[in-house]
Amino acid sequence: MSTINDFSGYNPTWCPGCGNWGIGVAIKQALVQLNLSPSKVGVVFGIGCSGNMNDFLNAYAIHSLHGRAIPNAIGIKLANHKMPVVAIVGDGDCYGEGGNHLIHACRGNHDITVIVHDNGVYGLTTGQVAPTALKGFKSKSTPSGIIEIPINPLSLAIGSGATFVAQSFAGDVNHAIAMIKAGIEHKGFSLINILQPCVTFNKINTYQYYLQKVYKLPLNYKKDNFKTAVEKSLEMNEEKFPLGIVYETDKPSYTDQLPQLEKKTLVEKERFSDFEKLMIDFI
Ligand code: SF4
Repeated sequence: MSTINDFSGYNPTWCPGCGNWGIGVAIKQALVQLNLSPSKVGVVFGIGCSGNMNDFLNAYAIHSLHGRAIPNAIGIKLANHKMPVVAIVGDGDCYGEGGNHLIHACRGNHDITVIVHDNGVYGLTTGQVAPTALKGFKSKSTPSGIIEIPINPLSLAIGSGATFVAQSFAGDVNHAIAMIKAGIEHKGFSLINILQPCVTFNKINTYQYYLQKVYKLPLNYKKDNFKTAVEKSLEMNEEKFPLGIVYETDKPSYTDQLPQLEKKTLVEKERFSDFEKLMIDFI
């Protein structure tokens, strides 16, 4: 049985009060509660303050290129589909640079869990506007206010075919733990959007702001109803933020549909040794 210390790397360097602290604890706790050890889970980080967790979380991990955490996670999953694979990214990384990868991971129902630190800014590069920032948000890169409307992560994922879409809040660690555990246990693509105050560069989406706008989905909420989930997700456009599993449905994952992987994972199979023959077949 692992403990939270097993997953602890270097001490985090996040700003005091940053929502990343709560998310970092929630991720470690969820992994411990799922009875995983650092060698039994694949983790991929994007670039950003969230990606710096690569140094703070002890696991088999890749600190990937900006926006490319999801394809790396899919690659690991294809190689060893029995292992849980988690991508930890920011909203800029996931919905900006990596937006295309997110859409195709959803439609492929790749069995990976994507945890998004959604703070509306590029904190690591000192606060430029990111895709979930509210229209009119003023930053160094948008001194007159951003013109575009924000990405709606929940409706984007649901509409693209994700089979598990949840939202949580960095100020409620127990809730985040429950969502991360449920996402990792879900068979198929799971997105967990975690609302995360950046206390240094985002003075709009503060803890106080979220505490007034978040609410938990009721126990009788029907998470398997697509139409209800779409309607619920669209509340985000009105700055009303549902917390919980907004949508979950059961469909075969990508690797479930590969007959070549029915008996063994790719890493368990015999390695191909005749490289010359392989090249001749391809050319
Ligand atoms: Fe957190 Fe913002 Fe500081 Fe980055 S810049 S560590 S997101 S408070």
